[in-house]
Amino acid sequence: MHATSFDELGLRPELLRAVAEAGYTVPTPIQAQAIPVIMAGRDVMGGAQTGTGKTAGFALPILEKLAPMANSSPSPARHPVRALILTPTRELAIQVEEAVRTYAKYTNLRSTVVYGGVDIKQQLAIVRAGVEILVATPGRLLDHIEHKSVYLGQVEIFVLDEADRMLDMGFIPDIKRIMALLPVTAKRQNLLFSATFSGEIKKLADALLNAPQLIEVAKRNTAAETVSQCAYRVASEAKRGLLEHLVRSRNLNQVLCFVRTKHGASRLARQLEKDGLITSAIHGDKDQKARLEALEAFKAGKLQVLVATDVAARGLDIDDLPLVVNYEMPYVPEDYIHRIGRTGRAGAAGEAISFVAPDEERLLSEIERLLKKAVPIVVPEGFDPAAGSRRDHGERSERGPRHARPTHEARAPRAERAPRDETRAERPPRDETRAERPPREDPRIARELAYALNPDQPLPEPSAAASGDTRSPPRPTRPGFGHGRPVPALLMKRATPPAPPAEPDSA
Ligand code: AMP
Repeated sequence: MHATSFDELGLRPELLRAVAEAGYTVPTPIQAQAIPVIMAGRDVMGGAQTGTGKTAGFALPILEKLAPMANSSPSPARHPVRALILTPTRELAIQVEEAVRTYAKYTNLRSTVVYGGVDIKQQLAIVRAGVEILVATPGRLLDHIEHKSVYLGQVEIFVLDEADRMLDMGFIPDIKRIMALLPVTAKRQNLLFSATFSGEIKKLADALLNAPQLIEVAKRNTAAETVSQCAYRVASEAKRGLLEHLVRSRNLNQVLCFVRTKHGASRLARQLEKDGLITSAIHGDKDQKARLEALEAFKAGKLQVLVATDVAARGLDIDDLPLVVNYEMPYVPEDYIHRIGRTGRAGAAGEAISFVAPDEERLLSEIERLLKKAVPIVVPEGFDPAAGSRRDHGERSERGPRHARPTHEARAPRAERAPRDETRAERPPRDETRAERPPREDPRIARELAYALNPDQPLPEPSAAASGDTRSPPRPTRPGFGHGRPVPALLMKRATPPAPPAEPDSA
């Protein structure tokens, strides 16, 4: 039996208080399973994606284990790096460290995050002052090791987060170099999380883990199999009318409506309010209190529509939503799966409708490629998506029978659809700070490319740095790493943490 409350997990009161303040009442499946195993000191191979609550799943037991070593001494020597968490991207690194800091707030444990693409100088002072929990992207961590600002010889717990993405981004050689600097496997606890377990990941796990416990939680894409999905072809200008029509004609409550940007979310919520729908929005610009209020009202069934961005909706724990609307199609196909997972949860029947404007057809194709199945195109009942207005009662659609929901409309054969590359050029990046995903065709080339483009890889040699080029070409080997002498933490004052990069507009 897995724990059904945080109290049962044996966490100390300081952590339980922080968890309660974060608003968590029930451990997620990965937390219920992983926390006791990690607290017992075992290595873990975790099959869990971001969005499952895995960060607290490893951060809470790490904090529990390190809490006895917490102290308020100003001496860096009293704050060696005891837990190292590696993530593939700076966004994830920032997110993970924020979570660690939230849960650690009533302990004396220190944490910080280091990632590439920003000046290392600000980070140097902080890490030199000593932190027990270090969250890092691999390349920047190697830079710190080169600067002798980080010493890994006292790491007790090593976490490799999103190992499959690490592999995709060409980070495995860097990780191996880092592993060579850690205490021997028998002396440390290792946790590896990955959404997929390819042969390469298994090989990495063999090298890293010591008799691991395998913990897997439902994959995100299970929702794709249980949720009834369809798409409407509709002009952008007609989307608002269509949403209103859908809500009113079906007398719906609790419709979760996704848009891509926080400005778009605010605007749409305002417009829908004007249209007379009880609406609120949650997005990154709203403070925690406003988000919680909107969420509570939504959960209580007091809102007809909640407009959300992908980032803000992450971790929303709302069951049995009748309908998720993709008002704007996501740029990242995986976000579609995440979005539709909000409906039909816990075995309940769910429905997801996508509003696809002509310029979003390609995004739909990418989603279908990921799902490995087509999303049926149907004609909205009683609404003319071309005219953007309600049809008179009794009028039949020219494009399909009124009652046939879902009605499959003839789709252009794949060959006629625009090739994938064109869409890439057009698409604004989801977040400029994130490295472009590599093309998947040739994994070896893709990895090299991803690594070369990745601002989180180690800093270039001094000559390149002098020329202002912060992106170095891939360097397959870095002789010397793993053989350098341990660097004692230097006595320096703890400075204020570096400002994270601007929040992406998708938040
Ligand atoms: P993660 O998969 O770790 O990125 O977590 C996804 C989201 O779920 C984050 O926003 C967390 O704050 C949230 N979360 C984690 N654990 C819980 C929980 N037990 N209850 C509710 N939300 C949670």
